[in-house]
Amino acid sequence: MGVMSNAKAENWPGNWVETRPEGLYVRPGGFYVDPMRPVDRAVITHGHADHARPGHRAVLATSGTLAIMRARYGEETGQARQALAYGENIRIGEVEVALHPAGHVLGSAQVSLTWRGARLVISGDYKRRRDPTCPAFEPVPCDVFVTEATFGLPVFRHPPDTEEIAKLLHSLEVFPERAHVVGVYALGKAQRLIRLLREAGYDRPLYVHGALQALCDLYEAEGVPLGPLRPALAAEKEAFRGQIVLAPPSAIADRWSRRLPDPLTAAAFGWMRVRQRAKQRGVEMPLVISDHADWDELMQTLEDVGAPEVWVTHGREEALVHAARQRGIEARALSLVGFEEEGQ
Ligand SMILES: [Zn+2]
Ligand SMILES: [Zn+2]
Repeated sequence: MGVMSNAKAENWPGNWVETRPEGLYVRPGGFYVDPMRPVDRAVITHGHADHARPGHRAVLATSGTLAIMRARYGEETGQARQALAYGENIRIGEVEVALHPAGHVLGSAQVSLTWRGARLVISGDYKRRRDPTCPAFEPVPCDVFVTEATFGLPVFRHPPDTEEIAKLLHSLEVFPERAHVVGVYALGKAQRLIRLLREAGYDRPLYVHGALQALCDLYEAEGVPLGPLRPALAAEKEAFRGQIVLAPPSAIADRWSRRLPDPLTAAAFGWMRVRQRAKQRGVEMPLVISDHADWDELMQTLEDVGAPEVWVTHGREEALVHAARQRGIEARALSLVGFEEEGQ
């Protein structure tokens, strides 16, 4: 391990991993990681739609990610599907491939690639704080670490999620006559919010929008208990007073939530830090709960993986590249297109 900083060794990952229109291509393995377009062979970090796309021929991922892809894409998941457990090694072409927990959503993985003694780790999306729905991010020592930078500015610091959950529960006490409608993405955010509510002692039924049901069922089947869930809108309108209703962000501002009694709208996003954007979306109570690393987590991760070189895929690349260089780490922005701020 270890690459020379001036004359690059033959096994330096920049010599065998390239950015193509389809995405990151690993030449000695003949596969892509999280490609944006259908390819012959893909390794997928996690189930969010901007990383896991349908239509590849062969797909390698954790069993959790494959289950999420099957739930969303059915046969379009890929003709050849191979599950790899965390920490297990396989060889694709000349490359050793292993998956390690990324702490982002159920099944999420970092992809470790080793070729001729040099290791590159593609982290996908990740966070460092505890998430009761998936195993914690595992730092993997490497020569080049590939990272996102969704919250790659020092202003982005996420508060403890228990504080945000307490805010929601406090509001329920203060406004027992209002339905509390919380906007959450269907994959990851919904189930994490439910688990956090359960851990805070909230054991009443939670009402869920139909668009969230399938993935809640999948999490339960994968061993993440969510407690009593009820279909939203199945009951009389009055029954929703003082209840928590979870819905996709697109549903909270439209007619759907107006059917609820005196709805109080909340939403869980990392970027809710930027209050103005919450107001623009008509959200009364922003909850800062993110599945992406905030600035401190990004800095901590650079330290923990100890890579002499970092590639930044998407987000606020410039600030992170600058901060890495200040720490003596070689850094460059890949500026990959096609990834979204917060995947769905
Ligand atoms: Zn993403
Ligand atoms: Zn994601």
